Amino acid sequence: MRFCSFCDEPTEWAELLTDERLRCAACKITRFFERELTLTGDYAGQPFVLMPWVREVIRDIFGTLDDDGTRVYRDVYLEMPNGSSKTTICAGFVVALLATAQGTGTEVYSAATTKEQASIVFRAAAQMIGANARLSSRMLVTPSTKTIVRRDDPTSFYKAISADGFAHDGLAPSFVVRDELHRWRTFRALELNEVLERKIMKRKNPLIIDITSAGHIVTWRYARFTLAEVAASARHPLPERRRLMSYRLRGQRTERIMCQGGACYQMSFQLEPAEPEVFWNFQQELARDGLSQGMLHRFDSSGRMALGALSYINVETRARHMLVQAFHTFPDDYAIVKSQSLFELP
Ligand SMILES: [Zn+2]
Repeated sequence: MRFCSFCDEPTEWAELLTDERLRCAACKITRFFERELTLTGDYAGQPFVLMPWVREVIRDIFGTLDDDGTRVYRDVYLEMPNGSSKTTICAGFVVALLATAQGTGTEVYSAATTKEQASIVFRAAAQMIGANARLSSRMLVTPSTKTIVRRDDPTSFYKAISADGFAHDGLAPSFVVRDELHRWRTFRALELNEVLERKIMKRKNPLIIDITSAGHIVTWRYARFTLAEVAASARHPLPERRRLMSYRLRGQRTERIMCQGGACYQMSFQLEPAEPEVFWNFQQELARDGLSQGMLHRFDSSGRMALGALSYINVETRARHMLVQAFHTFPDDYAIVKSQSLFELP
């Protein structure tokens, strides 16, 4: 077993650098963020210091590899509030993916519902490249088409796309950052969404990050099938076609279904009203645990209702199954939603 020279973690798939240090797949990305990228907007030019949870997410996504060196996590759900850090993190992801990708034909997209939204991530990515002479010499930035192309391989590019006025043909995404999923409700948006989903499955190592402030979405793929679990507010209508089950979040419930192809999906959820003291203690524990594992998000007042709501998601992957645990807290009602889902291969 070899060890990464930067994080000391054991790694089967490290890169040998010219100075003979070993670098694991996760450190390749975290070090790219911290050494090559700077912040944009109000903090323009400042170094991109990764918040602990962002570092954790990057390590989970890029550092968890299969026996053959491909990423285990192919779909990633990331919940973040509106605000500048979201744009910066998305832009960092697209630049890092494009700049560090190996081989040719890497297509990176950020997908938004409107042209204006699509421009925001593009502008931040272009600024990050403009602020770094090495990256500027490697990339060709074209604002009129919201495209950034790698000069050493013109088939590798990043493009910001939107649902309005967009031609779908020829997409073969390697990586998609989707913004504000709960707003993807217009026909065109749904159509674009389906095209991205269908095309991305052709890739060996696809990855989708869904960002929403409305709830959680877990997408699981096996063979030709896709299972999606969505926890959302009743104000966000969801597609009914091909829906397997749907429940109001009330009391508790456990359900198990066998799916096409022999896979099994089992979910249970619980809505727990709590005494204020119990509620705040639970929140504190959750915040503490969330720092060491899983993904934790704290909502501010622009997110879920009152100050201090928390969402926490933890994923455990084994050879034949994936276990997803989620907690969402609602300080206005002193209520806690707990859910646990097991996706099992045949
Ligand atoms: Zn490392």
